[in-house]
Amino acid sequence: MRMVKYVCTGTCGGSVSEEEFLEGKNKCATKGCPEYGTQLVKET
Ligand SMILES: [Zn+2]
Repeated sequence: MRMVKYVCTGTCGGSVSEEEFLEGKNKCATKGCPEYGTQLVKET
């Protein structure tokens, strides 16, 4: 079974599991990343 991940569209390469995303880890939290504070997107 493939795990769905949510990823940052910036350069930090951050990703969280769907469970974490639904628990509120839904934004980039890497200071210095161009997309800091931006909503993560579902990995395709
Ligand atoms: Zn980021």
